Amino acid sequence: MIPYKNDDWTDFTVSENHQDMKESLANFESELGREYPLIIGGERIFTEDKLVSINPYRKDQVVGKVSKADQELAEKAIQNAYKAFDSWRKWPAHMRADILFKSAAIIRRRRHEFSATMVFESGKNWFEADADTSEAVDFLEYYGRQMLELDQGKTVISRQDEKNRYFYQSMGVGFIVPPWNFPFAIMVGTTVSALVTGNTVVLKPSEKTPVVAARFIEVLEEAGLPEGVLQFVPGDPKVIGDYIVDHPLIRFINFTGSRATGTRIYERAAKVHPGQKWFKRVVAEMGGKDTILVDRDADLDLAARSIVTSSFGFSGQKCSACSRAVLHQDIYDEVLQRVIALTKELKVGNPADPDMDMGPVIDDIQFNRIREYIAIGKEEGELVLGGETDDSQGFMIQPTIIAGVKPDARIMLEEVFGPLLAVAKAKDFDELLEIANNTEYALTGALLTRSREHIERARHDFQVGNLYFNRGCTGSIVGVHPFGGFNMSGTDAKAGGPDYLLNFLLAKTTTENL
Ligand code: GLU
Repeated sequence: MIPYKNDDWTDFTVSENHQDMKESLANFESELGREYPLIIGGERIFTEDKLVSINPYRKDQVVGKVSKADQELAEKAIQNAYKAFDSWRKWPAHMRADILFKSAAIIRRRRHEFSATMVFESGKNWFEADADTSEAVDFLEYYGRQMLELDQGKTVISRQDEKNRYFYQSMGVGFIVPPWNFPFAIMVGTTVSALVTGNTVVLKPSEKTPVVAARFIEVLEEAGLPEGVLQFVPGDPKVIGDYIVDHPLIRFINFTGSRATGTRIYERAAKVHPGQKWFKRVVAEMGGKDTILVDRDADLDLAARSIVTSSFGFSGQKCSACSRAVLHQDIYDEVLQRVIALTKELKVGNPADPDMDMGPVIDDIQFNRIREYIAIGKEEGELVLGGETDDSQGFMIQPTIIAGVKPDARIMLEEVFGPLLAVAKAKDFDELLEIANNTEYALTGALLTRSREHIERARHDFQVGNLYFNRGCTGSIVGVHPFGGFNMSGTDAKAGGPDYLLNFLLAKTTTENL
C-alpha cells in the first residue's frame, strides 16, 4: 500500500494546467442544464418535480436539473438501503476500500471537470474549487487506509483458557446530509466514510449543489459500488428531511450545515420511534464564529494576510472563516490599516475568470441575510470598507469590514457566513482570550504572537476544536488537521482524523472459553 499523501493542488501558472481548466469550464458550459436522476436500488428515476441548480454569479443560468424525491421515494430508498446492508456489511474491508481508491483515481484524472462544476454551481474561484477537489481525493485515500487499519481490530488481554477479541462492525443505514459550501469534499467525505465502514447510505445532497453530487455517484458506480448500497435522494429538506431522520430503520445521521438544522436533527433523532431497535447516532458539524487574535508582539504583516485570507476566501462561506479579528490595542490601528489595504486589492467578480479572488455568495437567502448583518454592523461599529451589494445579475457582496465593534455586538456573536469581518480591540492578552471565548461556538481560531507563554495559555484556554498559531484559521487538510468543533459548533467528530470512522462503527467484544 502506498503511504497516504495529500493530493497536490494544481499550479495554474503552468500553462498546460491553465488550459486544461479553461477547457473543462468550456465543456461544462456546453452541458449546462443537463438532467440528472435520483437513484434508488440501482434504478435511475426521473421525476417531474426537479431541483433547479443555478449559477450564483448568473442567476438566470441553469446549471442542472436534478430529480427530486418525495416521501414515497424516500421510503423506498430507506427500504432498499436496509435490504442491501446485510450483504454489503460482509464485504471484506479491503474490497470496500478498493472502491474508494479507484474512485480517487477516477477523480484525479477528471479533476478539472469537478472543479469546473463547482465554479458554476457554487461560485468557487479556481483555487477554492481545485482545493475542494483535492480534499475529496484526500478523503477517499485517507478513509480507505483508515478502514484497513481498523479492520485489524485492537488488542485486548486474553487470559489462560479464555480468548478475547475486540473489533468493529458496521451499524446499518446512514442518512448523509452534506452542505453546499464544500459541495464535493464534504459530500464525498461524509458519504464514503459511511460506505467504507460497511454501512449503506441514503444521501441527500444540498439542494443548492446537487449536480456535483450527481456526478460523483457516477464515479462510485464506475468504481464498482454495488447497486443498492447508496441511494441518491435529492429533495426538498422540508419534505423529506424529517421523514428520513425520524425513520425507525435509520441507524445514524451524518450532518454538516447550519446550527438550526443540526439542532433540529439532534433533537428529533433522540426520539425512539415504533419499530426502532437502537439509539440513533448523530454526527452534526455546524457553524462557527471564528476569531483571529493578534497579540502586541505579532508579525503584523503575517497577521493582516492571515485575517484577509481567512475572512474572504470563498466569500467567507466556510464554517472555519474568520469573522472576527480581535487586536491588541497597541497594534490595533496598524493591523486594521494593513487589513483594509490588502482587502482593497481583492478582485471580486466572475469566479470562472482565472484570477478572481472572490465570487458571489450562494443564493438570495444568504445574500439578504448578509445584507441585513451589514446593516446591523453599521449600527454597531464603523464601516471602514465595502458594504456594497448587487443582486441584479448574481449575488455579489463586496468584502466588508466593520471596525471598532464591542465584544458583545451581534456581529461579534452571531454567525453570518459571508464576506463580513468585525474588528474589535482588546486591552491585553487576558482580554483577547476572554473575547475569543465569548460565543456559543467553538470551531476554529488563531493566535498570532511571538510569545511562547501566550501560545501555551491559548492552547489550553482558547476553546475551539481547531486552533492555529501564527497562521489563518481556514484550510484544514485531511489527515493533517482533523477538523471539527466543540459546543454549538458540533459533535467534534473530527473529519479527516484518525478517530473519524469510529463514528460509524460498533465496537464488539467476543470472549471464548477455551
Ligand atoms: N475544513 C474547512 C476549513 O478548514 C472548513 C469546512 C467547512 O466550512 O465546513 O476551512
